[in-house]
Amino acid sequence: MDLHTGRTLWSEFDLEATAYPRLGEHVEADAVIVGGGIGGAIVAWELVDRGLDVVVLERDRVGMGSTRGNTGLLQYANDMPLAEMVRVHGRDRAVWFYRRCWEGVGRLREMAKRLPADVEFADRLSLCCASVPAHLARLEAEVRELTRHGFAAELMVGRGTVRRAFGIERDAALVTYGDAEVNPLKFARALTGELVRRGKARVFEETQAVRLEEDKGHVELETDGGFRVRARAAVLATGYAFQRAWPLPGVRLGCTYAIASEPLPDRSGFPQGAVIWETARPYLYMRMTRDARLVIGGLDLPVPEGPRRDRDLNARAEQLARLARNDLPDLHPFSIACRWASTFGSTVDGWPIAGPHPRFRHVYCALGYGGNGTVCYAVAAHVLANRIAGASRPEDDMLAPGRLTLWRRAARRLSAAVHAR
Ligand SMILES: Cc1cc2nc3c(=O)[nH]c(=O)nc-3n(C[C@H](O)[C@H](O)[C@H](O)COP(=O)(O)OP(=O)(O)OC[C@H]3O[C@@H](n4cnc5c(N)ncnc54)[C@H](O)[C@@H]3O)c2cc1C
Repeated sequence: MDLHTGRTLWSEFDLEATAYPRLGEHVEADAVIVGGGIGGAIVAWELVDRGLDVVVLERDRVGMGSTRGNTGLLQYANDMPLAEMVRVHGRDRAVWFYRRCWEGVGRLREMAKRLPADVEFADRLSLCCASVPAHLARLEAEVRELTRHGFAAELMVGRGTVRRAFGIERDAALVTYGDAEVNPLKFARALTGELVRRGKARVFEETQAVRLEEDKGHVELETDGGFRVRARAAVLATGYAFQRAWPLPGVRLGCTYAIASEPLPDRSGFPQGAVIWETARPYLYMRMTRDARLVIGGLDLPVPEGPRRDRDLNARAEQLARLARNDLPDLHPFSIACRWASTFGSTVDGWPIAGPHPRFRHVYCALGYGGNGTVCYAVAAHVLANRIAGASRPEDDMLAPGRLTLWRRAARRLSAAVHAR
């Protein structure tokens, strides 16, 4: 799958990377993870934390899949706001999921703290701006729902108020706390690197898993080099490529655009300690990196790859820069250093996929689809690691891939009922 076009920020400037060998013999482990992106790295970390010995297979290089395009925001809030998720899933389930995401950000913070490498983790507040004045009602509903369930949130209303507080030209902004940002490529590399350094994981690059078989108690993976990995459990953290191999219902693939500026000589025009996003879907979002680069993303299209995605790159990059300048009039003038368009995916119900593969007993899927994919991986990895270590909770089944088939059936029935009227 052609995941990116253009130059992604992290892979341009973070050139230091440990190289791992290609698998050259048969090996055994407690668990094998397919995919060395941020998802596979987080799953590996959680499994090792429960005392398991782990092998990671990556067909390319660690972090060089979708992860090198990830813009590094770590937000507990989902692409689907809590108020909407309550309507879709019911209040208990929606709040359960938001709490899991909140805890997920906390776990990522703890992981970053335990790493010897600096992965540019920083705590942030999130400013969700009203995209149009009519969206004020959405923000009012969201602040009510969030605060009712113990999430700290406040609403700022009025152009003058928002401008004075944050320098943003919008009619309203919802302020939430407890989010963060990170350099995702450094994070993926540092997590796997630390596990290898501690002797808890073996990582093999340029090693593709091509076949999967299982018997009563084990799973066996065959690689493109003809070697086998035997383990008690396998976790497929193959990102958007998963959809090519085993298309799941209820997953939408499209593409998204992002730019990163040259370092700004003066960062005062950007609200300090914040990340910015908005109520529209698709949404525009912005953050400032440690080295004062403005990162801006959005303008998604429903085309995962191909000429249309690639042709639009320059126009959409310029449009992202214009939108940022409109929102932040005091921003220092900037030029674009990197622009990229990338495959992106989400699920119809706004939840990640974490649970047994529909066709196997010892094979699990960990797919953090969605705009807050890294946080979704923290949730998915926790759920799966507990399950593989024999400590799962019944509610964790809610994230299993099987639910998406039910969703599709329910949507079909609903549409049949509407058409029969
Ligand atoms: C432009 C963009 C910006 C994003 N920004 C954010 C953000 O700010 N915050 C956020 O939380 N999320 C964000 N996301 C969402 C998403 O969570 C990230 O893209 C995330 O980094 C994906 O990680 P991953 O591990 O799923 O995928 P990948 O990084 O693609 O990792 C999967 C790996 O599996 C390997 N693989 C596949 N098949 C095989 C096989 N058969 N054998 C061996 N290896 C295999 C691939 O080579 C790949 O390296 C963004 C996404 C995009 C596209």
